Amino acid sequence: MTSTDGPLVADLSEEALLARIFPLLPSGTSTLLAPGDDAAVVAAPDGRFVVTTDVLVEDRHFRRAWSGGQDVGRRAAVQNLADVAAMGARPTSLVVALVIPADLPVSWVEGLARGLALECEPLGVGVVGGDLSGGPVVVVSVAAHGDLEGRAPVLRSGARPGDVVAHAGVVGRSAAGLALLEAGRGALDDELVGAYLHPSSPLGAGPAAAVAGATAMMDVSDGLLRDAGRIARASGVGLDLAGPATAFPDDVRRLAAAAGALGASAERWVLDGGEDHGLLATFPAGATLPAGFRAIGRVRDGSAVLVDGSPAPETSGWDHFGGH
Ligand SMILES: [Mg+2]
Repeated sequence: MTSTDGPLVADLSEEALLARIFPLLPSGTSTLLAPGDDAAVVAAPDGRFVVTTDVLVEDRHFRRAWSGGQDVGRRAAVQNLADVAAMGARPTSLVVALVIPADLPVSWVEGLARGLALECEPLGVGVVGGDLSGGPVVVVSVAAHGDLEGRAPVLRSGARPGDVVAHAGVVGRSAAGLALLEAGRGALDDELVGAYLHPSSPLGAGPAAAVAGATAMMDVSDGLLRDAGRIARASGVGLDLAGPATAFPDDVRRLAAAAGALGASAERWVLDGGEDHGLLATFPAGATLPAGFRAIGRVRDGSAVLVDGSPAPETSGWDHFGGH
C-alpha cells in the first residue's frame, strides 16, 4: 500500500533525497570503490563479468495500488539477480536507474531502497550506483553484474539428448497471486500474493548447478513451457517433461484452493505462469543434482516440448508484446 504520509519527492531536493537513500543501500563484498565518485569500481577477479539488465514500468509490470516500494525493490533485484545466477555466476553488484513522479511519497522510494537491500545484502551484492529522474510514472531499471568464478557460463544452447531436465524453486505461485489480485480476492492467500509482489529465486542454485556440470540453464521468467521451448530451440533438441501433477506435486497442491476459488487451473499456472524465477537446467545423465533441483524430464532428439508425451501449446506463457 502506498501512503500519502510524510514528504513527497517534490518536497525534497535531489541531494536531500539521495541522502536518505544512500545509507539504506548495501555496499557489497566485491565493491572496491563505493558510490560518491562519477562511477563505482567492482572487483572482477575472474577477468570476465556477467552483466544483464531488466526494467519494471508502473502500470505495465506493477501497480502502486498493489505493490509498495519495498515489493518493487525486491522484485527488481530478484529478477536481475536470477538472470546472473542462471548463467552460473555469483551476483556481485547492481546499479539502479529510477524515474519517479513528483507526487510519489519519499517513504515509497525509501521502501524501494530497503527492498533492494533485503535481497542484495545477504548475498554480499552491492548497490553501487544509479541515477534519478522525474517522470510521469515509476520506472525502475536495474543492471546486475556477476562473477563466473573461473567457470564457463551456462548457456541455453548446451542441452544434449539424454540429459536430465531439472528445476529449482517454485512454479505457478506468482501467476496465482496476480490472478487473486486481479479478481479482488487477494485476501484469500497472502502467501501467493506475496509470491507475485516479491518472488524469491533460489539464487545459490545457479552457481551450484554450474559446478555440478549443468549443460544448459535459464531462469523461468516467462513460464515453464515458454522458457523450456527456448532451451529446446537454442540447443536444437526436444524436451520430454512430466506433467504438473508428477513434476510439481507440491506446487499443484499449494495452488489448488486458489484455483478452485477462481475457477482456474493449478496445472496451467504451473505450466504457463511467469515471474517465479526458478531455475530450469539440464544435467548430464547420472550427474548428482545440486540441492533444490528436482528432475522433471529428459532431453531427446527432435524439437518440440512434450508434456506427458503430448505437444505443449507454443502460445502459452507471458508475451511482453502480446495482449497480456
Ligand atoms: Mg532470464
